[in-house]
Amino acid sequence: MPDVEKNTVDTAAIATMLQSKDAEMKRILNYCVRCGICAESCFLYMAHKGDPQYMPSYKVINSLGILYKKKGNVDKSFFEGIKGLVWRNCVLCHRCYCPIGIDIPRMIDFTRSICRSQGVYPDHDGGESWL
Ligand code: SF4
Ligand code: SF4
Repeated sequence: MPDVEKNTVDTAAIATMLQSKDAEMKRILNYCVRCGICAESCFLYMAHKGDPQYMPSYKVINSLGILYKKKGNVDKSFFEGIKGLVWRNCVLCHRCYCPIGIDIPRMIDFTRSICRSQGVYPDHDGGESWL
């Protein structure tokens, strides 16, 4: 049974989840050329006047990208730290366009699944709104 006690994460379970999409996700992460074209089709990025934390590629590279880079060896604070990127900063609307076909919402959705597997969920405290 996964060890998802309050302040711990199950790194083996995280690594297993990452491996299940290893080829697909690594390929996608490696193909992104950081061109920023997807940003202009993200209404949240546009509404936040170019705040990079709302740029589609930034959200993935700084959440799932780090998980892959660290092979899942992260702690609970890492997941707490990416909650805003993968929940507050993206509504999975699938409007972001990437000329080379990178599916940003699919990767963000996968990252959310990993978070949930470790007992990390979005905040619903009436804090910062999307717009
Ligand atoms: S448009 Fe595609 S290649 Fe360009 S930054 Fe966005 S995800 Fe990366
Ligand atoms: S799926 Fe997320 S990143 Fe893509 S346009 Fe919608 S809010 Fe922006």
